[in-house]
Amino acid sequence: MTVFFILFCICVFLSCVQVGLHVRAIRGGRASLKADHVWLRVRHTLAAALGQHKVRERWWGYAHVIIVYAFIVFLFATVELLIQSVVPTFDIGDVVGLKAAGIAHLIQTYFAYMTLVAVVILGVRRLVRRHTLRSTWEAWVILGLIALIMLTHLGVMVAVLSNGGEGAWFGRYMPIEAYFARDLSSYALPDGTVVFAPGVDHRAYLLYMLCAALHIVCVSVFLVLIPRGKHLHILFAFANLFFEHRVYDDAGNPIDGAEPVDMAAFEASLEEAAEKDLPEEEWPALGASRVCELPSRMLLNSFSCTQCQRCTDACPMVAAKLEGCEGPMATEIRLRAMCARADAKLLEDAPLTAERELWACTQCGACERACAVGNKHTPRIIELRRALQYREMHPKKLNEIFRHIERAGNPWGYAKADRNVWQSCLSDALPEDAQLPKQTQKIFVFAGCMGAYDRASRRTLQDMVMFLRRNGYEVCASEREICCGEVLQAVGNEAGFDACKKANMAEFGKHPHDLILTICPHCAQVLRERYGSEKEPLCAMHFLEFMAELWRTGRLRMRDAVNSGHYVAHVPCGLGKKSYWAREVVSLVRALGVDVPEDVSQAHCCGGGGGQYFLETGRDIARMRAKELDSFGKAEVATACPFCAQMISSEFGVMGRKHVETVDLVALLVEHAEII
Ligand code: SF4
Ligand code: SF4
Repeated sequence: MTVFFILFCICVFLSCVQVGLHVRAIRGGRASLKADHVWLRVRHTLAAALGQHKVRERWWGYAHVIIVYAFIVFLFATVELLIQSVVPTFDIGDVVGLKAAGIAHLIQTYFAYMTLVAVVILGVRRLVRRHTLRSTWEAWVILGLIALIMLTHLGVMVAVLSNGGEGAWFGRYMPIEAYFARDLSSYALPDGTVVFAPGVDHRAYLLYMLCAALHIVCVSVFLVLIPRGKHLHILFAFANLFFEHRVYDDAGNPIDGAEPVDMAAFEASLEEAAEKDLPEEEWPALGASRVCELPSRMLLNSFSCTQCQRCTDACPMVAAKLEGCEGPMATEIRLRAMCARADAKLLEDAPLTAERELWACTQCGACERACAVGNKHTPRIIELRRALQYREMHPKKLNEIFRHIERAGNPWGYAKADRNVWQSCLSDALPEDAQLPKQTQKIFVFAGCMGAYDRASRRTLQDMVMFLRRNGYEVCASEREICCGEVLQAVGNEAGFDACKKANMAEFGKHPHDLILTICPHCAQVLRERYGSEKEPLCAMHFLEFMAELWRTGRLRMRDAVNSGHYVAHVPCGLGKKSYWAREVVSLVRALGVDVPEDVSQAHCCGGGGGQYFLETGRDIARMRAKELDSFGKAEVATACPFCAQMISSEFGVMGRKHVETVDLVALLVEHAEII
């Protein structure tokens, strides 16, 4: 048996070398692995890794969960066999006691049966879904190895039971093993013979030797395969979850977001390059055009990918069958292959993500919401867009939007003076009979471009302001607010975004406030995640998130509910997949009487995010979404994003379903709810 132990050691060595090479490749990326808030990170990592809640969302996910736990359980069984391979008389019962050892053997055996069932389920699923599932020989080999490891464990148990003795008390709880063991024990050894002593001609001994050797061989092969294939996630997923890009708010909640760019540092590096008179190719640039320019966190993502396809299944580009769009999993696989060469180019020849897909991504976050190992695809897409935009290789249509925002402060080029028309409601008289409770929070209302210029959204915005004032909140706003720049950062124009951020931050500073409220999820998200930072957090919320928080804490009540069965909700991505108030928002919308028939974390987007509203490339996705909503057979679609409302209603028009109206949930809420 010693030879198998040596084989195992060689495989561990080979595996470590390979893992070491991967770690070196990951470290070759831009430094980005943050380890602040260690305990919060550990808590989130353990909750995700051990809770497996995303994997359990589908019934067959339970098969994966069983296998994950089997890895932990069989770690001890394998260690015991390895020790016995060099010290044949070793008995774990001598160390932990016969009772504890027997219980451990029972747990391992029951897990072995559950794991065998799980392997069959996953194998059948692979066969049934072979046309849509990415099936590789490696996946089949791994399933086979797992099954063999379980079977060899059962074989070892039969051998142990046939040997009998005090240590085999657990045999009465293993009827199948006990049955086979009885047959073998007719060849029992004379009393006092050392258990499993080498050279003894005994069927139980031979069975033990065969199973133990095969077990160690399977584990060794497994170890060699892990760093070469998708099962590397067994090792890297923990680190991936731990190092996830998060900024923590005061309550310890994580806020995900795109990797910020320090524009001041970037401009300083440009000046330095100019002073040194560096050749053009050595000048600093924004975004990532080579592997080494991607944050190492993203390289770690690619090594942690389990190739489960959940992200691709959730992606609206794939669901709408957009030409040339393969979905995020294909990019992860390509990136991992590219990582071996730090200077591999991401945008030329064989690009990491096809250009069509790169610009068609709606940044909806469905892929990230679906990923069980915490991979973030949207920041990677933004990195690539930044690189293209910096080299002026972005879609030309965007130039007009850039120009308008720069000159007029909004993407359409509307007159600056018209932006503040909505502000009349700040001084409108309140109803005389209004009983005003005095609220302590002072609210800054950020109108956003839609709220300021779109007639329907402007009405919604004004309704919101009047509601806040009626309920005793002091409300302020700036007359010099400009576009929040969300679209600019989504398409990679960091310089433009930085200018918007600076201008708006200056306005926030001039109007003391406790909270910023908007009616647009895009504004709320970008203010929270890209304007605010760990050092200077910015408290910004969509009105629905604000109301959901009041609802959760019992400070909001419904005066009456809307006409039940009339409305179906389209919860915007920014309030569903990307908001950590998502559950409360859904509960609030349901309490209002609006039907939320889907799991909002999996519902498709409207096709307007990530710049698609302006690029007009999300029409197919919008059509798909409008059809889905139409299938619920309601008279009106209630949403809470001006962009969603326009994308969906215009597709209803194209489909000849003009009678299906869209309404803003903010308007419905202020009509039917009151703060207590
Ligand atoms: S963000 Fe949305 S559109 Fe973009 S890759 Fe992910 S799922 Fe697809
Ligand atoms: S990125 Fe995540 S969801 Fe997508 S295939 Fe990999 S592990 Fe699965």
